Amino acid sequence: MRCIGKGAESARMFCGIMNLTPPPTKFSKYNHILQQATRETCEHSMAEAVREAVDENDGKRDLAVAVDGSWQKRGFSSKNGLVTVTSVDTGKVIDVEVFSKHCICPNKIKHLQNCKRNFEGYSGKMEVVGALSIFFSVPSLYNVRYTKYLEMGDSKT
Ligand SMILES: [Zn+2]
Repeated sequence: MRCIGKGAESARMFCGIMNLTPPPTKFSKYNHILQQATRETCEHSMAEAVREAVDENDGKRDLAVAVDGSWQKRGFSSKNGLVTVTSVDTGKVIDVEVFSKHCICPNKIKHLQNCKRNFEGYSGKMEVVGALSIFFSVPSLYNVRYTKYLEMGDSKT
């Protein structure tokens, strides 16, 4: 419900109308399940997109890609961002790198194991760091090489 901008009251009303049990009041135990399902779906979808891109490329695993950054908020002040690699042949996302500056630790120097912070610096730099990470990760996630790079007009990469 939060994904569509609705809160707990809307969820209770929706469940009542649909003759479902009321929604749980604590979501933390479901977050891990939801994260795992999302991750598996993402990996399956990108593996399928890579297979299609290789097929489009006559079976060759050297792919032409476009790399672009996106952020949770505008103005390069966002704490979360990601870099996507899109196949030029199919237009489908085949790789992704996620960055976060969000830190939950009381001590901001020594980070807890479950802290998701994996980036320091200004948010605009996430695109550059992500592209470098993706291009220089050997081997790539799905055993393909990104040999041709299509640059966006506003790209910092
Ligand atoms: Zn931290």
